[in-house]
Amino acid sequence: MALLNPNFAQEVQPYTEDTALACFNCGTCTAICPLIHEHFPRKMIRYVQIGAKDRILENAQELWRCLHCGLCTQTCPREANPGEIILGLKRFVVANWRRS
Ligand code: SF4
Ligand code: SF4
Repeated sequence: MALLNPNFAQEVQPYTEDTALACFNCGTCTAICPLIHEHFPRKMIRYVQIGAKDRILENAQELWRCLHCGLCTQTCPREANPGEIILGLKRFVVANWRRS
């Protein structure tokens, strides 16, 4: 069972834009993403929202699938900037890998 960290969204803020909580999980980014991979990137943003830090670290390799094409960010109706969140989560993982 994943442990939830209610402060996780604040923990990742130094690494990315403070937009994850704007996401309302519509799935538009997942529909447009060329990776077509297990609800990516929506699920990663959801993990940030619910504080599932363990899930981010356990599935960190998925972050490196991102092509940074920007399609998700262009189509997000909430300006949550999912592409930047994915990039920021990569920064977070690199900075925290040894402490996980
Ligand atoms: S398109 Fe935007 S609001 Fe919709 S799930 Fe993706 S990040 Fe969230
Ligand atoms: S930037 Fe990454 S997550 Fe967003 S649509 Fe492109 S490949 Fe998918």
